[in-house]
Amino acid sequence: MTLSFSQSFHDPRIARHLAERIAGASHRPIRLMEVCGTHTVAIFRSGIRSLLPPTITLLSGPGCPVCVTAQKEIDAFIALARQPDTILATFGDLMRVPGTGGTSLQREKAEGADVRMVYASFDALTLARQNPDKRVVFLGVGFETTAPTVAAAILAAEESGLTNFSVMSAHKLVPPALETLASGAINIDGFLLPGHVSVIIGRDAYGPFFDAHRIPCVVAGFEPTDLLQAIAMLVEQIDAGRPALTNAYVRAVTDRGNPKAVAVMERVFAVADADWRGIGTLPASGLVIRETYAAFDALRVFGIRPVPAAPPKGCACGEILTGVKIPPQCPLYKRVCNPMAPVGPCMVSSEGTCAAYYRYHADD
Ligand code: SF4
Repeated sequence: MTLSFSQSFHDPRIARHLAERIAGASHRPIRLMEVCGTHTVAIFRSGIRSLLPPTITLLSGPGCPVCVTAQKEIDAFIALARQPDTILATFGDLMRVPGTGGTSLQREKAEGADVRMVYASFDALTLARQNPDKRVVFLGVGFETTAPTVAAAILAAEESGLTNFSVMSAHKLVPPALETLASGAINIDGFLLPGHVSVIIGRDAYGPFFDAHRIPCVVAGFEPTDLLQAIAMLVEQIDAGRPALTNAYVRAVTDRGNPKAVAVMERVFAVADADWRGIGTLPASGLVIRETYAAFDALRVFGIRPVPAAPPKGCACGEILTGVKIPPQCPLYKRVCNPMAPVGPCMVSSEGTCAAYYRYHADD
């Protein structure tokens, strides 16, 4: 039987062959980490863990955009929602992340704030055009994947003379996070590099990280056989003692990425130190709006300065995001914290590790 292109990504025979390749090269315990929330969910949903030998531990890193957003940024989002004559436009996952003091954007909305869920930064631009008597703020969270589209929205606002649109940028960059993980408490034997981010920045963007640490790295796609292929490549590199920076997602990711998207991102944003939930301040790991576009920077427009804030009491999101713990090791997991009553963002977000464990992991 001839398989179509899309069928091949789910074909059990191909999956079995890749699983055998992995088992054949697994001769010692190893830890692999994915740094992408979509990978986390795809790995759980496809049951890939059950195909792997017990020598392989898969860890989830700081790849969920909502999860890595620092508590002080969540509090600043809430402060923006409270501004008069303001519409706050946000992706849905941020709505239920608890802020300091037990509030959230969802609660602020219930109490009268104009918080609206959008699917893209350009939806917020439309809101600004439709509501000229309001100030529309878009919450920019995520990695190199979303930052270019947010930058494009700012450029479009400038071009069309919109003066009631601004963005709070809480964007983060993946390569600096890898640096922290590589020198952290957990010994990671290989990284599954994020597919979406890599479409933008390209495989070569990880070169400096790889050259410094020589940890096997493979860019991975999102279908079951994509992930198994990437895991097989990692395991074989580890087994042979030949680390490499390779790409198992060649149908979408090139060596150089998307230079146009990167150029738009770099035109609007400057690289700056950034706070990551549970990890702390990482040098040159975030994006702030350049001075040239200060009129579109919500923090400057509203004069808000994010204030350091402690994460929710007892929440282990920081340790989950760095692979130090898995969700069942958090004392609040399932007992107090669940998707209906999340304590931390890792349980709120559909890409959060705690939410993925809750939904797909049956062994506890
Ligand atoms: S289970 Fe809940 S409280 Fe525990 S780390 Fe996850 S989100 Fe935080």
